[in-house]
Amino acid sequence: MSGSEESHDLTDYEWLLSRVYEKIPPRGSGVTLDLPEPQIIRVGTQTIIKNFREISQRLKREPELVSRYLAKELASASSYDSGSGQLTLSVKVSGKIVRQVLDMFVKDYVRCPTCGSIDTHLERKGKVWLLVCEACGAEQSVKPF
Ligand SMILES: [Zn+2]
Repeated sequence: MSGSEESHDLTDYEWLLSRVYEKIPPRGSGVTLDLPEPQIIRVGTQTIIKNFREISQRLKREPELVSRYLAKELASASSYDSGSGQLTLSVKVSGKIVRQVLDMFVKDYVRCPTCGSIDTHLERKGKVWLLVCEACGAEQSVKPF
């Protein structure tokens, strides 16, 4: 058994990978989200996601929110440039890792757990966050970050 998730080393990408596979069960049904593949440029110790705005638009979430999630999961600083639509992370990661973190975001903050639809939005009321499904009307509280 692994201990608390809060105490692990977030730079351990092996751990991140195992977590992704653990938490996302294979899903035979539900709507496929054809997320654009992250276009990655690595400069020194930084990673730039060129098409970050496009990805966020596909998720129907504010780039700033998605950016915050990526930064948290990758233990990275992040800087979103609304002019170019690019996100700069302060860690070196592959497109595959970025994609896996985005998949976790979709699972927890985009996809309706009741019907599998991705036509959802987040309602944030202070400390309470609700994932509201526009397809079936289900409301699910999700963990704020
Ligand atoms: Zn639903």
